[in-house]
Amino acid sequence: DIIGLPIPELVQKHLERNKVALFSKTWCPWCRKAKALFNEIGVEFNAIELDLLPSEQEIQDYLKEHHGIRSVPQVYIRGQLVGGFDKTKEAHDNGSLHALLEGDGAAHSFDYDMIVIGGGSGGLACSREAAKLGKKVAVLDYVRPSPPGTKWGLGGTCVNVGCIPKKLYHTAGLVGQTLEDAKHYGWNVEKEKVQHNWEDLKSNIQDHIGSINWGYRVALRDENVEYINGMGEFVDPHTVKVTTFNRKTNAPQSSKQITARHIVIAVGGRPKYLDLPAGVDRELCITSDDLFSLSKPPGKTLVVGASYVSLECAGFLTELGYDTTVMARSIFLRGFDQECAEKIVDYMSAHGTKFIRPAVPINMEKTEQNQVKVTWSQDKGTAASDVYDTVVLAVGRVPETRWLGLDKAGVVSDGAGKLVVNQAEQTNIQHIFGIGDVLQDKPELTPLAIQTGKLLSRRLYQGSSELTDYDMIPTTVFTPLEYGSIGLSEEAAIAKFGESNIEVYHSYFKPLEWTVPHREDNACFTKLICVRSENDRVVGFHYLGPNAGEVTQGYAVAMRLRATKSDFAATIGIHPTTSEEVIKLRISKSSGSDAKTTGC
Ligand code: FAD
Ligand code: NDP
Repeated sequence: DIIGLPIPELVQKHLERNKVALFSKTWCPWCRKAKALFNEIGVEFNAIELDLLPSEQEIQDYLKEHHGIRSVPQVYIRGQLVGGFDKTKEAHDNGSLHALLEGDGAAHSFDYDMIVIGGGSGGLACSREAAKLGKKVAVLDYVRPSPPGTKWGLGGTCVNVGCIPKKLYHTAGLVGQTLEDAKHYGWNVEKEKVQHNWEDLKSNIQDHIGSINWGYRVALRDENVEYINGMGEFVDPHTVKVTTFNRKTNAPQSSKQITARHIVIAVGGRPKYLDLPAGVDRELCITSDDLFSLSKPPGKTLVVGASYVSLECAGFLTELGYDTTVMARSIFLRGFDQECAEKIVDYMSAHGTKFIRPAVPINMEKTEQNQVKVTWSQDKGTAASDVYDTVVLAVGRVPETRWLGLDKAGVVSDGAGKLVVNQAEQTNIQHIFGIGDVLQDKPELTPLAIQTGKLLSRRLYQGSSELTDYDMIPTTVFTPLEYGSIGLSEEAAIAKFGESNIEVYHSYFKPLEWTVPHREDNACFTKLICVRSENDRVVGFHYLGPNAGEVTQGYAVAMRLRATKSDFAATIGIHPTTSEEVIKLRISKSSGSDAKTTGC
């Protein structure tokens, strides 16, 4: 609406109204670079494209007369001329651009440069990096007790109720399998004498977690990050109220307000409940928040849900000898390659896990023996029921934003409470950022939360422009038959590139280590998904077999570098390993040849 104004007024209003104002020309490569720079660092700008205006020459003359330059681009921040692209880039590289952008912040005095709300994987990485860069930082961490009352220490989900205990319980399951194999390798292991003790395992794992909690506290102290064991909630866009709670009663104890130039929301998520009538599931079920510290053995267990958490928990419970059933309402491992997901379920079924599908719980009640009677509705509306010692809900997670008072800071979240951010993890409020599980449409994984937190601090305080790369993120599902994956599932690759443009190389295999104990043939599987029109570039990697995490990690580097099938084939394998099965892949799905293998 300012375009028709007289030139002096047009220039004045453009500079007044836009924190970052550009005069640019659509065809000019330097103008494009300047705009790309702001896009890259997630800073909004407004550009007047002079070549689209009849008064192009007059505006340039006016700018020369009043601001000293005629050429484009001309970048202004808060009405102050930064210069053309070179000067803007230089200011970005030496950090002065950021200071200019934060100009209003610099005028205030805040208690901290950065407050991080949430001391989990992302929050700890972000706060420690900012402190390393000389900033005054506070990290707030508070764990709301779960409905059964479970609480834990500093470090967030991964350390306390996620990756770490999960992998250790999974390892306990694998050790059981190794004991089965041991006799074939000449060890005199009498099966009757081998027993597993849940309490011992639980205590040893909880002791290890306690040592990590302590280690984090020491690290924060040594690195000059102020740790406040309290709950954060916004009072206004720069002010956070911190409430501390009595350790025993959990009643609020004290509160204070603190301010910061930058605030990072890293509050993660917590398990969802089913919200059955009268909140009966909250009363009778546990979740992954409670399972790893359960004081008594879980006994006969129902796990509801069909994703990572559900299959991993059901997997280790089965391997530890508990009668375990998974109840799934639809497909397994949504978003993952469905051929691989089904193979995991087949393997788990063959190793003792029971599956009820499709089904959803509709009622639960406590029995006189203190067990839980679960009634579920099955396909075609029929109902069935059974009685369990433990019911674990693994039906997804909800972000912890509803306690944060986001509205007081004006931060926008989506309907589910997840934060909507740009590529620089910036919310709609310029100095408030989000990292980790709390972000909309981003994978919920620890290494990603850590990377995002570190890079954010480097961008804010080191003049870095490096953004988190959300492409080709490797992940592993730690089910009894582990599953490593990078990039696209076969379904997603077909949807993206078209079926005729995709070639899939696949093979079953049997690890050498499984031969002597006579474990099953053709349970392990790998496949590469390639795009024909891109010289068979590998866009999907899938591996079902032992040590999937270790096998998968390195291939992710190759795929980030856009490796093709022939790059994989030209790489020399390491023999005898299971990872070499990926290198050796040669049977394409389109050939119709049998992917099953026999012999070495
Ligand atoms: P979190 O680690 O959840 O940390 C958020 C912290 O903020 C918590 O301590 C929370 O209590 C605190 N908080 C919340 N609200 C407030 C507030 N208002 N004030 C103060 N503090 C607050 N990922 C993997 O990569 N590999 C795995 O093998 C793996 N296994 C998993 C197994 C399970 C069972 C689960 C549940 C998750 C697993 N994950 C795994 C996911 C991984 O744990 C998360 O992606 C990661 O912990 C997210 O980190 P975060 O910093 O975003 O949040
Ligand atoms: P997900 O959101 O991935 O899956 C939720 C599961 O619960 C789905 O199978 C879903 O079925 C089902 N579900 C949802 N609502 C209901 C309902 N009302 N009744 C019955 N079933 C329901 O959650 P997870 O908790 O498994 O995992 C959360 C995230 O944590 C993962 O995405 C992953 O990023 C991370 N994680 C990582 C691990 C690793 O790296 N190894 C391990 C564990 C977790 P449907 O598909 O039909 O919607």
